[in-house]
Amino acid sequence: MTSAINQSNAIGIMGGTFDPIHLGHLRLAWEAQSLLNFSCLEIMPCHLPPHRDTPASHADHRFEMAKLACADTPAFHVNDWEMKKPSASYTVETLEHLRSEHAADTPIVFIMGMDAFHNFCQWHRWQDILSLCHLWVAHRPGCALPNSDSKESGILRNAQTTDARALLSDSNGKVHIHNTTALDISATQLRHDMKLGIEPRFLIPDIVWKHINYHQLYQCQQTSTD
Ligand code: ATP
Repeated sequence: MTSAINQSNAIGIMGGTFDPIHLGHLRLAWEAQSLLNFSCLEIMPCHLPPHRDTPASHADHRFEMAKLACADTPAFHVNDWEMKKPSASYTVETLEHLRSEHAADTPIVFIMGMDAFHNFCQWHRWQDILSLCHLWVAHRPGCALPNSDSKESGILRNAQTTDARALLSDSNGKVHIHNTTALDISATQLRHDMKLGIEPRFLIPDIVWKHINYHQLYQCQQTSTD
């Protein structure tokens, strides 16, 4: 990995269901933070995800777990804006809100995994998203680049930069694909395991596991947290 730069004025944002937050999310966010040194990286748990099933855990728990996971990382701010919305959490609306809070020339970088990018052109008003932010797309184990005839591949042909720091020289419109440390962790698999009583230790922060265990989320069997 190349060396870090002095603090930039850029803002990072990573949306997700975080059901629960795990080390794959945190490492993805941290590698973007390390390279671009955002003045703030907004971790934005969604309230009602528009493109998937209702989350297994209540939004309050998902928010609390994200707060616990990020408590020791001052650059990460867990943002409750989407949580407070009674309607579906559309990324474009969140970005419009974030953009309204910052100067027009502030780079805003939306961070996502490759699996999410595969469906990007099905997102609500996806064409507007690149006029509001850059995309930081992390490789994810088991997930290849989009097919060359897909709309997402077309976006890469027009907007991709291999230089992560080029995102700092404009406010929006570029896409960087990053070779994030491969961590084959998914919230779906964790939920499945916990239901069977298999502990997610060393895949999620201990403090998040304690929260899950204490509140008996994901119908896990209670075990000692000592
Ligand atoms: P699920 O398995 O339920 O789909 P998830 O683990 O993908 O959950 P999300 O909250 O949906 O978690 O993910 C938020 C963002 O983090 C998405 O952009 C997703 O692509 C990315 N992400 C999640 N896990 C990883 C991982 N292990 N490596 C890279 N990116 C990841």
